[in-house]
Amino acid sequence: MANPMADEMRRFKGSDEKNPFEAMSERFDRAARILGLEDDFYKVLRVPSRELKVYIPVKMDSGHLEVFEGYRVQHNFARGPAKGGIRYAPDVTLDEVKALSAWMTWKCAVVNVPFGGAKGGIVCNPIQMSQGELERLTRRYTAELIDFIGPDKDVPAPDMNTNEQTMAWIMDTYSMHARHTVNAVVTGKPVALGGSLGRREATGRGVLFTVNEAIKRFKLTPEKTSVVVQGSGNVGGIGAELMYEKGYKVIAISDIGSGIYNANGLNIPEVLSYLKANKTLEGYAEADHVGNQELLEIECDVLAPCATENQITSENADRIKCKILAEGANGPTTPKADKILHDKGVFVIPDILANAGGVTVSYFEWVQDRMGYFWREDEVNQRLEEKMVASFNELCRFSELHDVDTRTAAYMLAIDRVAYDTRMRGIYA
Ligand code: GLU
Repeated sequence: MANPMADEMRRFKGSDEKNPFEAMSERFDRAARILGLEDDFYKVLRVPSRELKVYIPVKMDSGHLEVFEGYRVQHNFARGPAKGGIRYAPDVTLDEVKALSAWMTWKCAVVNVPFGGAKGGIVCNPIQMSQGELERLTRRYTAELIDFIGPDKDVPAPDMNTNEQTMAWIMDTYSMHARHTVNAVVTGKPVALGGSLGRREATGRGVLFTVNEAIKRFKLTPEKTSVVVQGSGNVGGIGAELMYEKGYKVIAISDIGSGIYNANGLNIPEVLSYLKANKTLEGYAEADHVGNQELLEIECDVLAPCATENQITSENADRIKCKILAEGANGPTTPKADKILHDKGVFVIPDILANAGGVTVSYFEWVQDRMGYFWREDEVNQRLEEKMVASFNELCRFSELHDVDTRTAAYMLAIDRVAYDTRMRGIYA
């Protein structure tokens, strides 16, 4: 399935500032150096434990076979089973999946859930594929990985362009091979199949909880806080809606194509139903239309990039005009941009904390599956809030104690935890 645009994006993603694995490594190196991490453990933690690449033959609806490239990178198991989503996208690269797998390790450690990190990806264009094709692709990918995943080994979850249905197919395929139902093999499942209430909203809700804490540092209340959100999917859309409900003034939001802006605040539920009905924000009447890049430069209290990597770079960082950057996406800011934002005094809620609500409720789902006992939604949300607030405060204390920015503090905190466990376990020879 030739796609010149996707090829171009894949090439672009591989270049210096925008290579996500290099961005992850640069932050890791800095944090490890300040932490005084021993050379031996530095070498172990800097690289993934395992990188799997599979070629997935799929019978297309037209009758011909197509072969897709898929990855699963398992970065670390020191603290428990590897954990992380699977994304389907035409421009996904192995370097990106490697970075995302490491970010999962650090993310789980920052919120202190007993998981390591992993990530998967399949190079495909899900928008052009039928449900049947997606199902066959997902099932065959699962079969290729069958020896490497499992409730005690590696537990996948949704990510970009995958959802509850994808997880149900993975769970079923794995269960058919095991000859019994194993619902704890994935999280983010439909609630009726062992999913957790509140999981779908968890990443957006986690963003809200960290923003609630961050605005206190600026003596702001939700009503006095203007918010710009990039993205209107599972993270951005739900995050914006929850912030709107809490009283925040959400002044701009975008989807994959473009954005809308109204300085007086947008009615987010209305915007989201417009988007659902029209598949685009274009034509929405109560707002001005802005481009996705322009949107990032709107003056606001909170900017929440909730779409994809490399949105804030050395090219636009000096035009960002927010007090708080809440990174709902994984890797939306490059290391070069970090420096610029730091000099401008922007308070960053780093991705590995801001978007950790998803994996936190994934942990709750895994626990519930293994107990066979399910919690009420308010219990899930309350436990999530406790985790996010405690982790936010721990991170701020760590940052003040070591006199480092919040991103460096997040990496330090995470590396310290993973290194401790690796040291205690020792290296098996
Ligand atoms: N894909 C989500 C993330 O990037 C969730 C991962 C999970 O729940 O395992 O954090």
